[in-house]
Amino acid sequence: MAKSIVVGLTGGIGSGKTTAANIAVALGIPVYIADEEAKALYMTDSNLKAEVIRHFGEDSYLNGTLNRAHLSNQVFSNEEKLSLLNSLVHPAVATHFAAWKDAHASHPIVIKEAAILFESNSYKDCDCTVTVNCDVDERIRRVMLRDEVSAEEVRKRLSHQLTDEERTEKADYHLVNDGNQLLYNQVVRVLETIALRFSDSSQSHPD
Ligand code: ATP
Repeated sequence: MAKSIVVGLTGGIGSGKTTAANIAVALGIPVYIADEEAKALYMTDSNLKAEVIRHFGEDSYLNGTLNRAHLSNQVFSNEEKLSLLNSLVHPAVATHFAAWKDAHASHPIVIKEAAILFESNSYKDCDCTVTVNCDVDERIRRVMLRDEVSAEEVRKRLSHQLTDEERTEKADYHLVNDGNQLLYNQVVRVLETIALRFSDSSQSHPD
């Protein structure tokens, strides 16, 4: 069976991952949004649901829906519980993603978008990685506008993520979404570069 090149797309909060992913979708490239799929899996993956209840209690679900407040309270500033929750969710997403990838195997390139691509180790499912960078103050401004939240709230979310510098060091390619350089052109260029790289038999190619 033919296999797609899997591109991991990441970036800090408000950097423009979703904007870049939407450009890729407009170019006909399937995109797997890991955060959204993870949220759905809490409800649809009975195994995950059972494990969450086993470790975090019956209150993890209220009237059949995920009780985010209950879970957040438990994992907030408790590294051990946060790791435990991640150790339940990340494998569930990895399994779901593997099936999604197989279902899209006819596409030469697919994208996995994840805010914590490196932190969750899910970059290991990818053939190469792309990060979206933007000045942190601009990111805060955009998220405040988008989510109608305070700068303080955005900074709190930011504190759990890698910095742009750390992500750039880990990623194979980076896009700059500072409002000065057109993101569309950069997305097209990086996807062309990746397609070329993996079509060249002298370079590493997905198994
Ligand atoms: P999150 O991690 O919170 O999901 P994200 O990385 O997916 O964020 P987006 O949602 O794509 O980021 O972008 C954040 C906000 O900034 C959105 O409201 C988006 O419309 C806006 N935005 C993205 N790129 C630009 C740009 N170049 N100029 C102005 N606004 C932008």
